[in-house]
Amino acid sequence: MTQNPYISVVIPVHNEQENLEELYTRLTGALDKLGKSYEIILTNDGSTDNSSAMLRALHERRPDQIRVIEFNGNFGQHMAIMAGFENVRGQIIITMDADLQNPPEEVGKLIAAMEAGHDVVNAYRMNRQDSLWRLKVSKWHNQLREWMMPKLKMKDEGCMLRAYRRDIVDLMASTGESSTFIPALALTYATNPAEVGVMHAERSAGTTSYNLFSLIRYNFDLVTGFSVFPLQAFTMVGLLISLCSFAFVVFLLLRRFIVGPEVEGVFTLFAIMFFFLGIVLFGLGIVGEYVGRIYQEVRKRPRFVIRHILQKDVICNPNTSSPVSMKQEEALSQVQ
Ligand code: UDP
Ligand code: MG
Repeated sequence: MTQNPYISVVIPVHNEQENLEELYTRLTGALDKLGKSYEIILTNDGSTDNSSAMLRALHERRPDQIRVIEFNGNFGQHMAIMAGFENVRGQIIITMDADLQNPPEEVGKLIAAMEAGHDVVNAYRMNRQDSLWRLKVSKWHNQLREWMMPKLKMKDEGCMLRAYRRDIVDLMASTGESSTFIPALALTYATNPAEVGVMHAERSAGTTSYNLFSLIRYNFDLVTGFSVFPLQAFTMVGLLISLCSFAFVVFLLLRRFIVGPEVEGVFTLFAIMFFFLGIVLFGLGIVGEYVGRIYQEVRKRPRFVIRHILQKDVICNPNTSSPVSMKQEEALSQVQ
């Protein structure tokens, strides 16, 4: 049995075959330089390219330090990180992307901040290198989030280069939430968080897994997971519209007595009706976002399924073609 490392780096991987070799070289280089013991946990989140075989090869190169969790499908970036969290052995846990947008050489800065006594260290990208529309969407969303959730203090919610103390990671892993936003979840448990500026690079190769639609879906996870503000906002808007329409009814009633019957303005009325119908449907959609997530949670299906874990001191499921659930996997590793 190897001794527990000091640092665990958790990396989600989805179709990153062009980046894995460089990630390996630069990350191990940067970590070796720090002179502290470490492990790297890479979760393969249902890649359809050659990532799986490449990860296996990386594990074989450094079996003591590189562990690979193989998912049985695509469960999303945050679930891939969560699976890493459930398996970490280190005291300081770093999360980062596999596409080298977070330079591995910046990890030292986060470790230094953690060693200064912080329990969560969030990085913000000083020179963000993304497409213009991504920068704009992010900026608006950061502002909206700050306004809706003032308690969640972070300059850059989209940066996944972050460091957490082990007890915070254990708390996050124990929540069992299936639609979550890890940086926000960590901040709800942190007592002494810090922010450090880091460099950001363009995607080294390959393409982003997110389009505008999936980004909107992701942001709903953040908003619905950490605030009921949208529901409260709709109650207030509904109240305001009711008051206004009451005043309008009184106004029309008075006109009926003073001016007599009127029939003009039917189309204006239609326009007003459709506008309010739009608001009602939007409100219904927001309620649906919450109800859908409640439905997901109460079904209690596993939030992800691990096919196998490649690590030195646990023999993994030999029959990789038949997937096993997390619980079975744990049982299996205990038996063998
Ligand atoms: N990722 C993942 N599962 C997914 C989508 C992405 O594990 O379903 C990983 C991806 O391999 C990368 C990180 O999450 O390591 C960030 O993804 P990406 O670079 O596509 O997002 P962006 O940087 O454009 O926000
Ligand atoms: Mg990226």
